[in-house]
Amino acid sequence: MIRLPSENIGSIPRPKYLIEAYNAFNAGNLSAAQLDELAKQASRETIKSLEDLGAEIVTDGEQQKFNSFAGYCTHCAPNIAPDGLRIDFSDGHFRHLPRLTSGPFKYQYTADQFLEYTLQHTASKVKQAVISPSLVSLLYPANGLEGYSRMQFTRDVLEQHTREIQRCLNLGADKVQIDFTEARLSLKIDPSGELLQNMVDLINSVLDTFTDEERSRIGVHTCPGSDLDSAHSADIDYKYLLPKLFTIRAGNFYIAMAGEADPTPALRLIRTCLRPGLRVYIGVINPVDPEIETPELVCERVLEAAKYIPLLQLGICDDCGFSPFADDESTSREVAFGKIKSRILGGKLAEVKLAELVGK
Ligand SMILES: [Zn+2]
Repeated sequence: MIRLPSENIGSIPRPKYLIEAYNAFNAGNLSAAQLDELAKQASRETIKSLEDLGAEIVTDGEQQKFNSFAGYCTHCAPNIAPDGLRIDFSDGHFRHLPRLTSGPFKYQYTADQFLEYTLQHTASKVKQAVISPSLVSLLYPANGLEGYSRMQFTRDVLEQHTREIQRCLNLGADKVQIDFTEARLSLKIDPSGELLQNMVDLINSVLDTFTDEERSRIGVHTCPGSDLDSAHSADIDYKYLLPKLFTIRAGNFYIAMAGEADPTPALRLIRTCLRPGLRVYIGVINPVDPEIETPELVCERVLEAAKYIPLLQLGICDDCGFSPFADDESTSREVAFGKIKSRILGGKLAEVKLAELVGK
């Protein structure tokens, strides 16, 4: 029997009442505690929906990650401005990362808090995504900060990020996924690859503090970004990223693939980068595409990936979260759950077909 692990990446679109609550909070008409309660309600609803779909591993859909996949650690921070590094998307819109205005840098929320809540509301296996230290490192302003050096900032980030992962593992997360969405983007900012190398080094310095068993539960997610149905770095060829990505000493890799015009070269390259013992989750659902994939299409994508990746090292996932930025309403919750359902059903179809192929 063939078993293909199937996981979502992270964010599920927030329900309307939560988006309205964010707006009310930002306008000063709702307290942080009231917002928190509504986010917890949305978390419970999301966990239940994923369980009902038959997901073998659930998340809270990042309902409590205020602002964005990265913004939770700076939500309500007193030393943050909204005009940090600008990220441009293919449809012309842009987002800014937060910018640190003074030291020290302190996580306001940590992902293990969300995980703890999720674990209280499900008996299923739980996955928790955390923001990469490399993305957080981009919050430090280019012209420096008086009395708080970049070196001290980096030390503070690494220490808090490492503790966050350790607590997630200790709480019993089945997987901890480091969101490394800026990997492909970094090659746009610095085509020499030096920035990417620095980011990989940062992540490896954290991973080196964990045991082999712990690293087998830690994964890294890469994608070309996903916001308002557009991407920020899909034009960067995977051949510049993948060899470097696989030098990260994690046990799992979650790689966006469904959105690639021609996935074959990237799949072929992954085969050459693969080390024994790693699991590679290939994206079979494209959150940027409004159309819900059929289970048959998902199955086709899995069979294509299985030509290049040994079955014992293959898993499937969505290409990215469905709304990494909390106010993104371009994809409805219904569409997101429809796509997840297709991933689950398509994965099962592929398991049957692959078993037939192997049996022959
Ligand atoms: Zn992503």
